[in-house]
Amino acid sequence: MRCGFCLPACPTFKETGLEAESPRGRISLMKATVDGLMEPGIRFEDQMNHCLGCRACEPACPADVKYGQLIEQAREAIEMHTVHHRPWIKVVRKLMFKQVFPHQNRMKLLGKGLRLYQKTGLQAVVQKTGVVGLFSKDLANMERILPEASSNGIVEQLGTRVPAKGVKIATVGMFRGCLMDVLFTETNRKTVMLLSEAGFEVIIPPTQNCCGALHAHAGEMNQAKVQAKNNILAFQEANVDYIVSNAGGCGAILVEYDHLLHDEPDWHESATWFAKRVKDISTILIEKGRSLKFVEALSDDQPLNVTYQDSCHLKNVIKASNSPRTLLNGVGNVKFTEMKDAGSCCGSAGIYNVTQPAMANQILDHKMVNANATGAQYIVTSNPGCLLQMKSGIDKHGADKSVQAVHIVDFLYDRMVKN
Ligand code: SF4
Ligand code: SF4
Repeated sequence: MRCGFCLPACPTFKETGLEAESPRGRISLMKATVDGLMEPGIRFEDQMNHCLGCRACEPACPADVKYGQLIEQAREAIEMHTVHHRPWIKVVRKLMFKQVFPHQNRMKLLGKGLRLYQKTGLQAVVQKTGVVGLFSKDLANMERILPEASSNGIVEQLGTRVPAKGVKIATVGMFRGCLMDVLFTETNRKTVMLLSEAGFEVIIPPTQNCCGALHAHAGEMNQAKVQAKNNILAFQEANVDYIVSNAGGCGAILVEYDHLLHDEPDWHESATWFAKRVKDISTILIEKGRSLKFVEALSDDQPLNVTYQDSCHLKNVIKASNSPRTLLNGVGNVKFTEMKDAGSCCGSAGIYNVTQPAMANQILDHKMVNANATGAQYIVTSNPGCLLQMKSGIDKHGADKSVQAVHIVDFLYDRMVKN
């Protein structure tokens, strides 16, 4: 089928109007390459890399084409055969993908270094001199919105087990993430507290590692599989009823570990055990948890105008776009305003805003027009990448006095009545 129903859902097609920048166009290019009609050269590679991997094309497709699987295979093939990477890119990729992300102790060292940079005054000097901006405006923008880093992860703070408040409903395993546990430690801590308050005993397996999403999206499938296997073993040992993620991007690969390991029959049972237990924090709170109580609004309080930016993977892969909205609407004193095209990608897409800054900025500019039109004081998100991208958009558009971007966990926890 080449019906083209997926075209209007695709952010890069919407931005460019080019067939080659659409899902149908990219699938045609993949097929032409496989059929030997086209060389898998730099132009093919560029088109594949322009794809955000947001998977908005999948729910739009009447033929149930698994585009996410196709693009990951295309990128894996590119990685296996490419000769275009400059030597320094190869070194950085190898270092980050194989030596840093999979090892949480090294991620913590990275957090420690970043914290020193932020706390010793070096960051202030760098920002004052504008030295980063001399190399790249986008990098300078990202440096400005860098959250407070920490080497003190969730296990160091809370241990590996936190009991449920009141009668226990179930035991959940908390997926802490690699960057989440270094740059968003407070959000991780609040996730555990929300779960406990809602009636879940929380286990945080200390041997878990990065989910492998960044690896899979960059064509490093073998490394993604290594990490998946390690996570499966870690959570099986903890014997949990559910596995909870607070990052849409991580959750989407966790829920597809059975597919990731589909060509390894020995792992079929374990990967299926894992995948069917994965829930996003918003979904488990709505479906299984006890209702959270929120602080009552005072009679003269003005309602908080809140909007929500979907995480693409949470919406298109985990299919959880209602639960965050239901939770936000349940908070006292919130006036929820839906944003136009809230389900369309913000341009973050893993490391897309680093590798494809021009397109990412174009998409972000349109997103900020839609966000500003809601008049919201809070833009709530469910994924660290989206959160940073929205912060970047607010900073870029000089809107930091009127609106702030927050993770849904932080927004809920800060307004919850704590027992
Ligand atoms: S994954 Fe997103 S950017 Fe890529 S083709 Fe599909 S809709 Fe377009
Ligand atoms: S991917 Fe699906 S929606 Fe897009 S052209 Fe092919 S069949 Fe149609």
